[in-house]
Amino acid sequence: MRLIFLGAPGTGKGTQAGAIADKYNIPQIATGDILRRAVKEGTELGQKAKVIMDRGELVPDQIILDLIKSRLTEPDCENGYILDGFPRTLEQAEGLDQLMDGDAVDAVIYFEMPQDTIIERVTGRRVCVSCGKTFNMINNPPPEDNVCPRCGGDIIQRDDDKEETVRKRLVVYEEKTAPLVTYYRERGRLLTIDASGAVDAVRKEIETKVETLNA
Ligand code: AMP
Repeated sequence: MRLIFLGAPGTGKGTQAGAIADKYNIPQIATGDILRRAVKEGTELGQKAKVIMDRGELVPDQIILDLIKSRLTEPDCENGYILDGFPRTLEQAEGLDQLMDGDAVDAVIYFEMPQDTIIERVTGRRVCVSCGKTFNMINNPPPEDNVCPRCGGDIIQRDDDKEETVRKRLVVYEEKTAPLVTYYRERGRLLTIDASGAVDAVRKEIETKVETLNA
């Protein structure tokens, strides 16, 4: 099963992608995580990406497409994948279609959420620096000692989750990524979910929709 999780930052794509990927035993491929790893490792890509990410802007399409191209050829992608945070521009969507001969995805799960809720959620988001597990001060709080229950790493607020950067990222989302909703709707691939509910309710809605693909 090949899925894209599409939506503004803070709509819960990463959390849900993790759960659905575990359930179906397919990898969650998050370009944001790949880039953050490169930043942490201090690679050439990481150094270039950090400046862009800290500004809340998008890393150039060709860099992202090269990353995805090599990732999708790894053996764990054979039975499918969840693309989380990719594609983020029309150029990336077209690049992915080309790469997969127009057969890149079974469905695009679109996470719909009002902007005010997004800002509240993103500024409340916390993440484990070691394993990337996400938490939220509102509906999925981290333990009080900020130690990750999965791996023991430190739980922090990402620099690009601070309010000013979040607002900038939402402007970028509206301009560059929102047009993908129409792109995939026109191709009959879009499944819209109400992302503002509780984590479990949203997961069930996604599972129900995904099951209809297998039916
Ligand atoms: P995310 O964790 O998906 O919110 O991504 C964090 C940051 O990484 C974004 O604000 C972008 O700067 C960069 N990024 C992640 N995925 C992409 C992508 N598909 N295209 C361009 N930039 C990306």
